[in-house]
Amino acid sequence: MDEILVVGCGLSGVVIARQLAQAGYKIHIIDKRSHIGGNVYDQVNEKGIRVHHYGPHLFHTKNEKVFKYLQQFGEWVPYKHKVKAMLQDGRYVTLPVNRETKDIVGEENIVETFFRPYSEKMWDMKLEELNPDILNRVPVRDDDNTYYFPNDPFQAMPKDGYTAIVKNIINHPNIRISLESPFQKSMEEHARHIFNAMPIDEYYDYRYGELPYRSVKFHTINLPMPKLLPVTTVNFTHKGPHTRVTEWKNIPAHGENNQFTTLTYEEPCDYKDNNNERFYPVKDLQGTNRELYKKYQAIPNEKTTFIGRLGLYIYIDMDQAVNAALKTAERFLQKQKKLDQ
Ligand SMILES: Cc1cc2nc3c(=O)[nH]c(=O)nc-3n(C[C@H](O)[C@H](O)[C@H](O)COP(=O)(O)OP(=O)(O)OC[C@H]3O[C@@H](n4cnc5c(N)ncnc54)[C@H](O)[C@@H]3O)c2cc1C
Repeated sequence: MDEILVVGCGLSGVVIARQLAQAGYKIHIIDKRSHIGGNVYDQVNEKGIRVHHYGPHLFHTKNEKVFKYLQQFGEWVPYKHKVKAMLQDGRYVTLPVNRETKDIVGEENIVETFFRPYSEKMWDMKLEELNPDILNRVPVRDDDNTYYFPNDPFQAMPKDGYTAIVKNIINHPNIRISLESPFQKSMEEHARHIFNAMPIDEYYDYRYGELPYRSVKFHTINLPMPKLLPVTTVNFTHKGPHTRVTEWKNIPAHGENNQFTTLTYEEPCDYKDNNNERFYPVKDLQGTNRELYKKYQAIPNEKTTFIGRLGLYIYIDMDQAVNAALKTAERFLQKQKKLDQ
């Protein structure tokens, strides 16, 4: 039996690989990067502090099945994320906006203080040009709750990091991995089926044009002090280039160091100004970009299933990536079962 090819060693690819490996299929995962894990890749730095290479990844979900699935592959420690915004005068207020923040800033100033500067930096578009979905992801509350994800019952961080979780997911005798291996069409020839997490427009040589993405440049520094921030992440309300900063040691199981603290500042940019690192699909008001994606999606391709945030041109949280991957694997197995009957 020919192998199944999985392009992309991120959460979407590795969960599909694991499910099919357990069902007896031989899997080959390739990734163009030199590490496993895709965007959840993390590592411990020279100061003993764990840093997420592609920005802070906080696991939170309502989906118990997904959390239980991930718990098979390593220990998780409870952690509920908190975020503050720094006002122009240096004061910190809670985000998402709660009753207290509203009282301090004034209800009439919320959009101009928190949403306009952050969103315009993030997307390089006027607030009015953006799809309202983007703003709807950041609710405004009437209570004094200070948690960032108040409605998600399962919130935790992997005790030994995300990379260790991914390593355990792919630790199966039916799975082999090739890193620093960019996808080439010739690889499809001998594959029984391909699950592909690469950008769909790149796969089709941009025949209908490019799908736009925003990216983020991460600037990580070590400061010679025990701790700087009151919470893990602080968003800026100023017009400077950075949107937010994360202090890693505020997350449990992210290392201890009494002399140094590690912080990562985020500077949004176009993906072409950051080595083609595509992070956030651009949701324009008219939906033009989504329409373009649909043209790519409609191209018949029996042997390939596009997966993940780049294959489907969509922003998905980790729990959604795992949930979608479990469903995709299940559909494939059901289809094969019918074919074999
Ligand atoms: C800045 C940022 C912060 C985030 N924070 C959170 C958070 O707090 N909580 C949360 O739940 N989610 C968060 N997410 C979302 C999370 O990163 C995704 O849900 C998850 O990484 C999706 O996994 P994936 O496998 O679909 O994609 P990816 O992890 O991107 O994996 C795709 C893989 O495909 C590889 N690839 C691409 N093209 C090729 C090619 N041509 N050949 C070979 N390999 C290729 C890439 O190198 C990559 O490793 C965040 C995302 C970003 C960008």
